Amino acid sequence: MGRYILALDQGTTSSRAILFDHTGSIHSMGQHDFPQYYPQAGWVEHDPMEIWDSQRRAVMDAIANAMPGDIAGIGVTNQRETTILWNRHTGQPVYRAIVWQCRRTAELCEELKRKGLSERIQSTTGLLIDAYFSATKIRWILDHVPGVRQQAEEGNLLFGTVETWLIWLLTGRHVTDYSNASRTMLFDIHKLCWDEELCALLNIPVSLLPQPVGNSQVYGYVQSGIPGLEKLAGVPVCGAAGDQQAALFGQTCFTPGEAKNTYGTGCFTLMNVGARPVRSRAGLVSSVAWQVNGETTYALEGSVFNGGSTIQWLRDELQIIDSAPAINDLAATVPDTGGVVIVPAFTGLGAPYWDMYARGAILGITRGTNRGHLARAVLECIAFQVTDLMLAMRQDAGCDITTLRADGGASVSDLLMQMQADLLQIPVDRPVMVETTAFGAAALAGLACGMWQDLEQLRSLRRSQCAFLPQRVQADCDRDYRLWKRAVGRAADWIEH
Ligand code: ADP
Repeated sequence: MGRYILALDQGTTSSRAILFDHTGSIHSMGQHDFPQYYPQAGWVEHDPMEIWDSQRRAVMDAIANAMPGDIAGIGVTNQRETTILWNRHTGQPVYRAIVWQCRRTAELCEELKRKGLSERIQSTTGLLIDAYFSATKIRWILDHVPGVRQQAEEGNLLFGTVETWLIWLLTGRHVTDYSNASRTMLFDIHKLCWDEELCALLNIPVSLLPQPVGNSQVYGYVQSGIPGLEKLAGVPVCGAAGDQQAALFGQTCFTPGEAKNTYGTGCFTLMNVGARPVRSRAGLVSSVAWQVNGETTYALEGSVFNGGSTIQWLRDELQIIDSAPAINDLAATVPDTGGVVIVPAFTGLGAPYWDMYARGAILGITRGTNRGHLARAVLECIAFQVTDLMLAMRQDAGCDITTLRADGGASVSDLLMQMQADLLQIPVDRPVMVETTAFGAAALAGLACGMWQDLEQLRSLRRSQCAFLPQRVQADCDRDYRLWKRAVGRAADWIEH
C-alpha cells in the first residue's frame, strides 16, 4: 500500500499538486500558473491544454522524489463550473474553456428568467439562474462555434467541467462527481441524475454529459504513457469534489450545522445541511456536498463578491497600505472604526441582497477619521458580509451553527477572525493545515483506497491552530451589525438603470 495520497488542486489561476501522508501532513507540492484570456469585456477563457499541461507539471514536481508504488490514490479538486467541450476520438477541445467568471451568457440567463424558468430550475438543480453555471456556457459553444452542434448531435463530443477533463485525460473515463455536477444547472440534486427535460429545454444533447458518480470511489486508473507521469500508471483516481465542497470536507464539516468560510478574493460560505437539500428563501444555493459510502450530504452555499479584494483595493487604489498583511497593524492602531462603515459593493452585492445596481460606499466619516479607521472598516466589512451569509443560512436551515471554520488568504488575520467570532457570537476556528481544499480531495480519495478508514479518523487529523472565541458583549456587536445593515441600505440600488 502506498504511503501518500496525491491531490490535484486545479484552480482559476494556477494548478497545484500536493502529496499528503497518512497524518494528513503535506509531504511535497508543485504549482504552475497558466494564462488567462480576456477576449472581450466580461469574457474569461482558459486553454484546456494549458490547464492540463500546468497540472501535469505540478504533479511531476510534487512526485519528483516519490517511488513508483508510493502513491495509493489520487483525488481531484477544481475550479467549478468552467466548461470544456472536446472531441471524444481526438481529445481536441473544440473551443477554449469558458471560465466560471465569464459573463458572456448573462443575456441568455435573462431570457431564461423571462421565460419563467427560475422556479423550475431552482426546484431541481438548487441553483439560481446565472451565467456562472455551466449550462449556458455549453449552450453558447454549441450555438457559436461552427460545426460544433452537428458534431455534438453525431455523438462525437464530450462535455466536462475541469475535474471531468482531468480524470478523462488521466484514466480515459468520462465521469463527473455529484458536487461538480451540482454546479452545471443541469443536474437534479434530489434524484442525482441529469435533468433530461431541462437539457431539452436548453437544447443541450444529453449524450455530451459525463456519468455522475459519488465523491469517493474508484473512477479509473492512470493510463500508462502519459509523459512525466509514468510513475503513476495504474494508480486509482478515486476521489473528486469541486473546490468549495472539497474545502468543506477538508475542514471536516461532517455534521449538519458545521460550516466553513474561505476568506479569499471573494468569500465562500458553505454549511453542511445533512441528508436532504434545503430550499433557500434567502438567495443562497443548494448543492450536493458529497456522497461517500452511498450517503449523500447536501450543502447550502453563499458567496460574497468582494472579500480580500477589498484589502487589495486599500493597497492598490487608495494606497493606504503597501502590502495586504500591513492592514492588520494599521487597523490595530485604533480601538474601533470610529463609526465608519465601508460597503464594498464594487460590482453590486451578492447573497443575500442580489443587487446588481448597488455600488460601494464609505459612510460615517468625520473630521477625525484616519487611515486606521478605514483599515479597520475594511476588515470589518468582510466579517459583516460573512455574517449576512451565516444568518441567511441559519434562517434557511432552521438550525444553529455551532462554529465557523476558516481558511483562505485573509484568514491569517487574527483581527478579522476575532471580529467574525464577535459578530456571530460563535467560535471561529482556523486549522494548522490551511490547504483544506486539496486535503478535502485527498481525504475523499484516501477513504476510497483505504488510507483512512472513516470520517472519525479524518476528523482526528484536523488540528485547530487557533479558536477565536467571542469576546465583545453581544449588544455592542448587534449595534455594529445594525449600522452595517443601514449602510447597505444607503449603497443599495445606486446606479441608474
Ligand atoms: P484566492 O484563492 O481567492 O485568489 P487567497 O485565498 O490566496 O485568494 O487570498 C488572497 C487574499 O488574502 C487577498 O485578497 C489578500 O487581501 C488577503 N490576505 C493575504 N494576506 C493577508 C494578511 N496577512 N492579512 C489579511 N489579509 C490577507
